[in-house]
Amino acid sequence: MRYISTRGGVAPISFSQAVMMGLATDGGLLLPERIPTVSAEQLRAWAGLSFQQLAIQVITPFLTPGEAVSDRLPELVERSFATFSHPDITPVTRAGDHWILELFHGPTLAFKDVALQFLGNLFEMLLKAEGGRLNILGATSGDTGSAAIHGVRGREGIHVFILHPHNRVSPIQERQMTSVLDANVHNIAIRGSFDDGQTIVKTLFNDLAFKDAYRLGAVNSINWARILAQIVYFFYAWGRVTGGDPHQKVLFSVPTGNFGDIFAGYMALRMGLPVERLILATNRNDILVRFMESGEYRTGEVNPTISPSMDIQISSNFERYLYYLLDEDPAAVRGEMERLRVEGVFAVSEARRRQAGEIFSARRVGEEETLARIQATWERHGVLLDPHTAVGVEAAGNEPGAICLATAHAAKFAEAVHRAVGFDPPVPPPLEGLLERPTRCRILDPDPEAVRAFIREVLG
Ligand SMILES: *Cc1c(COP(=O)(O)O)cnc(C)c1O
Repeated sequence: MRYISTRGGVAPISFSQAVMMGLATDGGLLLPERIPTVSAEQLRAWAGLSFQQLAIQVITPFLTPGEAVSDRLPELVERSFATFSHPDITPVTRAGDHWILELFHGPTLAFKDVALQFLGNLFEMLLKAEGGRLNILGATSGDTGSAAIHGVRGREGIHVFILHPHNRVSPIQERQMTSVLDANVHNIAIRGSFDDGQTIVKTLFNDLAFKDAYRLGAVNSINWARILAQIVYFFYAWGRVTGGDPHQKVLFSVPTGNFGDIFAGYMALRMGLPVERLILATNRNDILVRFMESGEYRTGEVNPTISPSMDIQISSNFERYLYYLLDEDPAAVRGEMERLRVEGVFAVSEARRRQAGEIFSARRVGEEETLARIQATWERHGVLLDPHTAVGVEAAGNEPGAICLATAHAAKFAEAVHRAVGFDPPVPPPLEGLLERPTRCRILDPDPEAVRAFIREVLG
């Protein structure tokens, strides 16, 4: 497989090159040149595989033959998921009419561990092969940062710089990042929003001289390897729920912020996974819902909510979907992205909006509904949802049999859960004593120059 940019400015590159490039050098996002397809026979066979075996099957067609990753994939997969506390890695359970796909059994208790444990091992392998070094730069609304830090802490040849919005992540999220004191981990609190952090990261990545000089790599879901690892659990959940009947379509409900997780679901669908629809669930930061309703993609103000990992008004991965919606025309994508940058808005035709609506059902869920859903699911089914998962379950509403992605452990967002059910969720081992641990963090203004100076200061 070769990789190209949504904006058409990158000559086809290999899988390893795509992983190291992160954001495409033309400002776009990298995508496989074509989407591999899966036959009914394969679907049937894959339903009997373990998560790790399945991961190898799903990932292999996306690799570039002849690269070292191909030979070492089984070892990579084995190591990446050995840090999960559940033998099924992403078990599928039930809460009343809905299936719950539990994605929170990794070291930081959020779904992002699935991809970032894989990416951490992948980076290390690629760097060892070429004897190079890498400086990871990423912005986080909370969960990506801790998952990235835990994915690469203590690894040789890698430094990681993570920007989080100062005082706008939960105390647990903050400590999961700032209490990691390994010398290669550098936390930066930005006096601003997540989008400010993401804009700084994009600015530094677009400064190609700086990016090359400091060998910057990406861990945000702009990195293709993250999407790839996430495709696996859509196949896994389908297999567990249907037993591998290729005629049985399922519905997924995906709590969405940066459009990464749901884009992985879209890729699974395009590969041939029998998916009826993808429910795109947002909190009141609803740019994606507004797009699905009006065809207009217009950025707005970010409103803090009890599901902070979805407090996003510029969904980076949406560009990947837009590429397909605009018939894989990079010039058209480039045009719309330029309009977004200059005017803060772009729009697609009514026909295209309808086309998107055939795949995505978009729903916005408010704070009160989220709390009520946590309470009802606890009282009726004895299952504790975190607020992000609750947004997805609420959006799935009356769709029996929907597979709802549980993106975080309830204990990670204890305050909101307490408000809903009147008690603190039990604390799982990775969080014990967390708030008492010593921390390290630098607070900076929302200015690319301040971050650039800090990186120079650390790396010399
Ligand atoms: C990141 C995150 C999301 C949103 O996922 P995207 O891929 O950004 O759409 C949802 N829930 C939790 C708990 C998260 O950490």
